[in-house]
Amino acid sequence: MRKVHYFYNPHTLDYERIYFSWRHRLGTVFRHLFVGLMIGMVVFLCSIYLFASPREAQLRKENLLLQTQFDILSRKMDESFLVLKDLQERDDKLYRIIYQAEPIPTSVRESGFGGIDRYETLMNMPNSQLLVSTAKKMDQLSKQLYVQSNSYDEIFHLAKNQDERLKCIPSIQPITNKDLMRISSGFGYRIDPIYGTSSFHTGMDFKAEVGTDIYATGNGTVVSSFWRQGYGNCVVINHGYGYETLYAHCHQIYTQIGREVVRGQVIASVGNTGKSTGPHLHYEVRVKGIPDNPAKYYFMDLSPEEYDKMFEIAENHGQVMD
Ligand SMILES: [Zn+2]
Repeated sequence: MRKVHYFYNPHTLDYERIYFSWRHRLGTVFRHLFVGLMIGMVVFLCSIYLFASPREAQLRKENLLLQTQFDILSRKMDESFLVLKDLQERDDKLYRIIYQAEPIPTSVRESGFGGIDRYETLMNMPNSQLLVSTAKKMDQLSKQLYVQSNSYDEIFHLAKNQDERLKCIPSIQPITNKDLMRISSGFGYRIDPIYGTSSFHTGMDFKAEVGTDIYATGNGTVVSSFWRQGYGNCVVINHGYGYETLYAHCHQIYTQIGREVVRGQVIASVGNTGKSTGPHLHYEVRVKGIPDNPAKYYFMDLSPEEYDKMFEIAENHGQVMD
């Protein structure tokens, strides 16, 4: 029902009706409308601030879920790193040693990807720290797996050629020595038979009569066959894979430079040439140019018991014939 307004007229002592103008009425309407709008806006802003819309609530939930999934992924990658580390250690300390390959340097295994801008796009995203650290971890893991995979390829190649390798690596005694009585002196510091001073004996001496056969101890190629100061008549065989053997003080040499020889082939005879105190063979095994203890290279010739005995003789016997 429409409201009717009156006012009290003291002159007529009566209530008289008020008729508002259209302007006054319009003003009232706009005033009410303005107040209503202001209240509505305040309520709207408060509700936005205090209460999330269903869409926002859904997005927040999804965001939380994604963060949890990233955390789980990160933990799984940490576990994968541990497994990979174990593989790397076994590779360096076992497989590569068996096939005499150098361990892979840590700098190669742990080298990262180049370029500082690699993660720039991620840096501008929300939760950038989480994204960048996860991406970095993923990159490291894939790089290390790639290096490890290459290493296994190399080991596989070495294993495939193992037959050939076993034929070449020195692994018998250079003269017939079943009872081990011909070993005169082993590898290491010994008293020099001529000067009487302590010096490093770089090979193993076998005493034998002049003319006794000397065998190539592994397949290879003769790279040196002539008289050398100190060594007298000597033969050097390159076996490949970093191995060389030297046979010194020979009486006669039955081979020449460039000839291929096989294990057990007679290449020379025992003599007393060069710096020598009696007929004997001075035998050296060199690995990548460095003399190694020849006693470690008779594994195809001796039983484990004989091997122990030979090692003992070679260690304790001090009579160097040079
Ligand atoms: Zn010697």
